[in-house]
Amino acid sequence: MAEILTSSDADLRRAGALLRAGELVAVPTETVYGLAANAFRDDSVRRIFEAKARPFIDPLIVHVHSLEQAGTLADVSHPFVKKLADAFWPGPLTLVLPKKSCVPDAVTAGEPTVAVRMPAHPLMRKILRAADVPLAAPSANPFGYVSPTTARHVQDSLGTRIAWIVDGGPCVCGVESTIVFVADEPRLLRPGVITREQLEAVLGVPVTAGKGHMEKLAEAGTPRAQLAPGMLKKHYSPRAVVRLFDFGGNPPDVSSAAGTAAAVFQSRETAEKFRAAGEGTPRVFWLSETGELADVARAVFSLLRELDAAGFAEIFIEKSPDFGVGVAVNDRLSRAAAK
Ligand code: AMP
Ligand code: MG
Repeated sequence: MAEILTSSDADLRRAGALLRAGELVAVPTETVYGLAANAFRDDSVRRIFEAKARPFIDPLIVHVHSLEQAGTLADVSHPFVKKLADAFWPGPLTLVLPKKSCVPDAVTAGEPTVAVRMPAHPLMRKILRAADVPLAAPSANPFGYVSPTTARHVQDSLGTRIAWIVDGGPCVCGVESTIVFVADEPRLLRPGVITREQLEAVLGVPVTAGKGHMEKLAEAGTPRAQLAPGMLKKHYSPRAVVRLFDFGGNPPDVSSAAGTAAAVFQSRETAEKFRAAGEGTPRVFWLSETGELADVARAVFSLLRELDAAGFAEIFIEKSPDFGVGVAVNDRLSRAAAK
């Protein structure tokens, strides 16, 4: 099992030194836990892909401690960069920018762009300062499985493949960063806690949905052999079968699956109403006491992991309302449910 490092300054300095020297360390961020490596070292970055069994064609996000450090990796001259950084950094926003030649191809999957983020988690910020190199870090989970939001989640699914995990407590956002492709016509590549409306308010131009990197590869006719089964749509998936139902609705007829199915609602109130109404119904859970979307986002991956560990064969989940961070939650849920 991996050694757990604490929030002590000595442990954080150690994590920074290990990363700088080319080792892999799992680190807390405000979004989800990341599996980090020195972004300038091709050999270290490749070990991330091996530990996660992640295909090399899926590029990584690079984490920096400052806009100045971002400038060592990427062209930050577009006026939108400063606007977005002023408004949302440090925080859960990733910018896709033209890369500089010092960034290894392994980080960007050979693309001329690099994804950059300045995280807000206080421990991650100390680790970045201690390492004083940018850190490439995807989510610290086996490729395709549910993202980790606690150190225990990382230990459970990668503990035999990595040597160190920094425990920074549960992640406050719970879903991955919003990703924006920066250009005169900016594109939203992945929804997150920072919403499209917030981006548009800061930039003063529309932010339209863009294609993710993998979707683009598929459209370009990348050979099927390079795209692992289900890689494009299916992601964030537990072993259990996930089925979604509309916000405010009830799960489809599940009486036959009563013993092996879980029904998950947005709020405690709706969950308890459903439980009170029926017999022979599945075990009932909820994502939030009140239905507050920030709580739902924080809980969603953690609950999926818990229900998986409990051995449910099917998980019925009520979708979030489609606004605010609910958009990001529904994006992750629909990928978890994809076949
Ligand atoms: P993860 O760190 O696992 O959340 O994955 C990072 C995601 O960032 C990738 O799956 C891509 O969708 C996206 N990404 C990273 N780099 C780029 C890039 N250069 N261009 C477009 N998307 C990117
Ligand atoms: Mg991931």
